[in-house]
Amino acid sequence: MVSEVAAVIRIAGITRESVVDGPGLRFVIFAQGCPHRCAGCHNPETWDFEGGREVDEEELLKLIQESKLIRGVTFSGGEPFAQAKGFASLAGRIKEMGLDLVTYTGYTFEEILAKSKEDRDTERLLKLTDLLVDGPYLSHERDLSLPFRGSRNQRLILVPASLAAGRVVLADL
Ligand code: SF4
Repeated sequence: MVSEVAAVIRIAGITRESVVDGPGLRFVIFAQGCPHRCAGCHNPETWDFEGGREVDEEELLKLIQESKLIRGVTFSGGEPFAQAKGFASLAGRIKEMGLDLVTYTGYTFEEILAKSKEDRDTERLLKLTDLLVDGPYLSHERDLSLPFRGSRNQRLILVPASLAAGRVVLADL
């Protein structure tokens, strides 16, 4: 029998314990590569799709398993949906561990939804996400008082509730 090959993901880095990247204590994986190039982006070093380093999902899962106090995992950027196949595979394993998943994206929910109709990996990553923080960072909408995001256009979207209702359902955070 041929065993499945672990997904390989290009990352900018990880943070083992964060309280600013979604609710509760979270393990954060920063995707390497971002097509959005938002003016005022705090992580421009994550834009280069050839930068960062490649890791396989087993290595990341081992580190996540070692983090006993976390409530969940956050995929941040860079742009996780630019590597939807790898992040969807990792997301499936994370959900099996009983952890929740927050995904940041520079795309809007509506753009991701449209793409998910023609790309299975995008659909899978969207469906495995509990909370989506969507939209690009817009410096003229900057607001440091907002929880878990930098500009007012970005929304905290409850993905399962939104998909079930057929409209955006916002988290009350
Ligand atoms: S989507 Fe995020 S990582 Fe990408 S350019 Fe915008 S702020 Fe930076």
